[in-house]
Amino acid sequence: MHPVTPSNVRPVIAVHGGAGTMSREGAAAEQQAAYHDALRAVLGPARDLLARGGTALDAVSLAVDLLEDCPLFNAGHGAVFTHDETHELDAAVMDGATRKAGAVGCVARIKRPVRAARAVMEHTDHVLLVGAGAEALAERLGLELVSPDYFSTDHRREQLRRALAADKAVLDHDGAALVFRQPSGATPPLDEQRKFGTVGAVALDVHGNLAAATSTGGMTNKRPGRVGDSPLIGAGTYADNATAAISCTGTGEMFIRVLAAYDICARMAYAGATLEQAAEAVVMQALPAIGGRGGLVAVDRLGNVALPFNTEGMYRGVARVGEALQTAIFRDDPVARP
Ligand code: ASP
Repeated sequence: MHPVTPSNVRPVIAVHGGAGTMSREGAAAEQQAAYHDALRAVLGPARDLLARGGTALDAVSLAVDLLEDCPLFNAGHGAVFTHDETHELDAAVMDGATRKAGAVGCVARIKRPVRAARAVMEHTDHVLLVGAGAEALAERLGLELVSPDYFSTDHRREQLRRALAADKAVLDHDGAALVFRQPSGATPPLDEQRKFGTVGAVALDVHGNLAAATSTGGMTNKRPGRVGDSPLIGAGTYADNATAAISCTGTGEMFIRVLAAYDICARMAYAGATLEQAAEAVVMQALPAIGGRGGLVAVDRLGNVALPFNTEGMYRGVARVGEALQTAIFRDDPVARP
């Protein structure tokens, strides 16, 4: 392996805002532009932070903070609804330098769940806190709490209504994966009814440290109490300075079953795979083998970036210090190559 020293590390951040089914034809140009703008508004400040010598951990925390605040994405404000018309948010953060991690699951009152995840990492001996216990910690540490309806948007309520209707149809169809009806007049680039809208970020800083963070409202119409892959270290989120940092989006149950994020690092460590080879194997082979759909963003210790997805599109972007921001939605959109 090449020695990594601060002088040959070029800091980089990559983010995602969920993967899903493409509906480019139905996507109004201004809607596409809104997603590109939203991604750029996140990448810019995170890249600047890295350019000032900031840490990867701070960069991914900032990026996910900003993504949580943006209602276009399924995290924080704009999170999807559970079957019971409530919100239950999951988030995680991991520091590749120390392999410390923090996560929260099923929280309903914490404005920025990723901050609570970081608080679990920095202020407790635990990795994962759920529900009322996580909210109590957040309150004790002075993190901002909100009424649960802060997360609600009319758009997400309509999505739940459609999902509830589709659920009945699915039960009539021998347990096939949840298939949603096309929304009438949908304009977001990725079909909102078939999109996994989790947000996440991975970064490499000038010190050679990696970090990853992920935040989500989960899946529309999920059962109350369901926890996805995002807050499970090794499944939806992982970072290790020896290999890579990864943040996933997609059908969480399958990402849990293949331990997607950790599997990429393991393939690199044990089999000598490159980041690109390991990420492709997980996203294009291991996940589809059990019906897993989605994608991920990953960066390795040398600053290589991989953004694979097995859906038709993924909201994604990359920013290297000293280079222009790059964002993409569809498979054939030009995007940063390593
Ligand atoms: N992976 C997330 C979950 O299963 C969903 C998503 O990516 O949107 O909770």
